[in-house]
Amino acid sequence: VARQRQQTTPRSARPRERSPAPKNRARVRRSPAYRLPHDVDARTIELTFELDPHKSTFKGRASYALEIARRRKSIELHSLGLRIAFVRLHLADETLHGRVEHRPESESIVLGFDRLIPEGPVRLELAFRGRVRRDLRGLYGAGSGDEAWLASQLCPTDARRLFPCFDEPGMKSRYRISVTAPADQTVISNAPISDEETTENGQRLTRFEATPPLSSYLVAVAVGPFEASPVAMSGTTALRVWTLPGRQPLTGFALEAATASLERLERWFDLPHPYPKLDLLALPAFAFGAMENAGAVFFRDSILLLDAKTASLEDRMRTAEVVAHELSHMWFGNSVTMKWWNDLWLNEAFATWMAYEIVDSWRPEWQVWLDFALRKEHALWLDALASSHPIAPPIRHAEEAQENFDAITYTKGASVLRMLERYLGAEVFREGIRLYMRRHSESNAEAADLWAALAEVSAEPIEKIVAPWTLQTGFPVVTPTRRTKKGTPTLDLVQERFLALPSRSKRDAGMSWTIPWVGRIGSGEDGNGNETRTLKRLFSKHRDSIPSGGNFAWAYANGGEAGFFRVNHGEQGQHELLAHLGELSTVERIGLVGNQWALCQAERLPIAALLDLLSALDSEEDPDVLGVIESVLSALDRRLVPRAGAAAEVRFRTWICDTFGPQLEVIGVTPKKSEGDRARMRRARLLSIVGGLGRGDRVVRESERLCAQHFSEGMELAAELAGPIIRIAAAGGGPFLHAALRRATTRAETPQSRRIHLLGLAAFEDAMLIAKSLDTALDPDFAPAPDRAQLIHDLLGNPRTAMLTWTRLQRVWKRLERQMPPILLARLAAATAQALPASEMAGILAFFEQQPLLAGPRAVRQISEELKIAARFERASCKGLVEYLID
Ligand SMILES: [Zn+2]
Repeated sequence: VARQRQQTTPRSARPRERSPAPKNRARVRRSPAYRLPHDVDARTIELTFELDPHKSTFKGRASYALEIARRRKSIELHSLGLRIAFVRLHLADETLHGRVEHRPESESIVLGFDRLIPEGPVRLELAFRGRVRRDLRGLYGAGSGDEAWLASQLCPTDARRLFPCFDEPGMKSRYRISVTAPADQTVISNAPISDEETTENGQRLTRFEATPPLSSYLVAVAVGPFEASPVAMSGTTALRVWTLPGRQPLTGFALEAATASLERLERWFDLPHPYPKLDLLALPAFAFGAMENAGAVFFRDSILLLDAKTASLEDRMRTAEVVAHELSHMWFGNSVTMKWWNDLWLNEAFATWMAYEIVDSWRPEWQVWLDFALRKEHALWLDALASSHPIAPPIRHAEEAQENFDAITYTKGASVLRMLERYLGAEVFREGIRLYMRRHSESNAEAADLWAALAEVSAEPIEKIVAPWTLQTGFPVVTPTRRTKKGTPTLDLVQERFLALPSRSKRDAGMSWTIPWVGRIGSGEDGNGNETRTLKRLFSKHRDSIPSGGNFAWAYANGGEAGFFRVNHGEQGQHELLAHLGELSTVERIGLVGNQWALCQAERLPIAALLDLLSALDSEEDPDVLGVIESVLSALDRRLVPRAGAAAEVRFRTWICDTFGPQLEVIGVTPKKSEGDRARMRRARLLSIVGGLGRGDRVVRESERLCAQHFSEGMELAAELAGPIIRIAAAGGGPFLHAALRRATTRAETPQSRRIHLLGLAAFEDAMLIAKSLDTALDPDFAPAPDRAQLIHDLLGNPRTAMLTWTRLQRVWKRLERQMPPILLARLAAATAQALPASEMAGILAFFEQQPLLAGPRAVRQISEELKIAARFERASCKGLVEYLID
């Protein structure tokens, strides 16, 4: 609806760019629904690049084997920021020289010829040159001296910045890539190397084998002083992990995770890996977490590289999950590709869901689906905003795809697939996907093709179940009520759209979803008579009545939290659930906290009920439930505490320590050798809660002592505790600690250690030191862009540093635009809604009106909505918090 604004975003907002045309970029308007003509089909594209990480420009030649379906006098390709040196078209009887017309509004070039090009095969040749970018997209460079490197990041629509191409996912070609580079550099691309030779001027020419048909966004090339791990074989696929020099000791875990994932994926899809080799490359500066280029996946180094002996469970889980996610794209996404960007969600949703399945089967003891439950909470929050979007929105212009790399696309999408999988059963679901893969491999498909395949194997009305979830914005809140109907106990269900800011619109009131509903009820009898029953229903009307098969003491109306919706159990329902907390599963306890918190912010539940729930969870031992508790407490700390007054602040912190401190006392701050991963994770979360939010005296002193020992005596901190300990110490720390953290960042031996020390700079509260932290965040030579972006994000998320950070950020935004890709800038913008006072809203909106966000005009609407919600929540709940703490 409000997408209009995106299409008219002035192009002047883009980072500086040398382009042949036109002079005044601000005047360029995009054509909203622009697509290339599809009657020119590039069967094969041969690309020859001249690349050197020490140069700021690059050169290329391209030769396209085209199939012309309709005779014509011109050929159009995407091309952006490239200078075209010559154009030749080889016909059967003649070679034509073409003219180039640049069309910036469609990011394309039109090659005009003096005679008609006949139907059938022709060969087009182009030579071009471009500029190496610094903002992590297109072909970009980073590092310096011996560690300078170049890499491509072409998804979603930046292939056109690397070579003139047919830059739409539905237009696949086979690629033959060759690269000339300095002889001491390593070159990586999608396919295996076919041969190498030394050129006349002492450079090396590397030729790669031809790829299977690929969409342009999956092409990859990287040049740098990369080193490889030993090859690991999985079936017939040769796997390697590539790094900059000196990082090879950190590759073992990624290689193990990749091998384990690949084996499982081959079995799951019942199809071999579609590419002959698989390179995983770790790059310090990378816009996304990783990118699934066919056969050559590029990762942010902090995600791929770790020391398996010292890394925390969270870090290992994240690495395994991202590796499995990218590898599952080799089938779902790369071999079978969306026809157009409107199905981007299906790509990402499936890979997200699949990654959790794979990691769960590889390491069941990690309980990764609980981690997914935490991610789901975030997606539910974003989707409860009126500014949310459907999972499958209409994408008219490719650039609209840019702003959809969010939790709605990934996590809500994955939740919907999970809901469907639960409903159909794992085997039927897998059979449907296999059928879809077999039908469309090496080709393109759309969501409807998948629904058709699933319907075929299940005989269920898949599209009817799925459509409300993918095409409608938002999700429902289900309110269960107990009733006795003709003497039979029943559970009545009502559904309506859930919005964090209630709406009075008739449209919202009329919405409903097809919910494959699962509920759990418990008899609540003590001893062995204690039984729970599962109720199921395809719940699609506004209200429904479900016989409960007997009396019950409690009901949890989203059994196993398999559904993507909220439940309003009401105060009475919560009361019953609190009396039987032990009968809820872990994921249900995460869901219960998330639900009550969301209802509280939407003013459907008093804050006292939320605090009662948190109190009742004082002996909660599961680290993921503690994780959701921590995020609720930290939101209260950001939003209510600064407005509640000093006395209330003291009471709030004391209450946290009284509630969760005793648990920590029992297990102690020091990890024990015999403990498992999740026990260690539990300690880390408790430390953050009691030391970071509660500022418990003893924990703070202990953290300061450990932190001092870490820096003065070189004592290692346990991986999962390092972050919380450093942050707790930094909150009261001075210039000495600040300098120590900076030093430790630059000397860190693992990306995790670099990040932990760097992010510690966000926890200082002294104004001078905050300013220094910001200087660090803005220094491109200090740390990779994604880490620095996270530092700014954290500074904006701390109520004690947010204002200073925002004031300064506005002055340096232009500089950041040259250093960071649009996606990171949009995340920074979104971070202004975390802790800044709602009174800043007008200023924030005015600022982003002046400096439009390329990757997310929606982000600005979200900011204004989130600040409105915050203001309303502060008004409604501040008093309630104070009263609760006094009682
Ligand atoms: Zn993905």
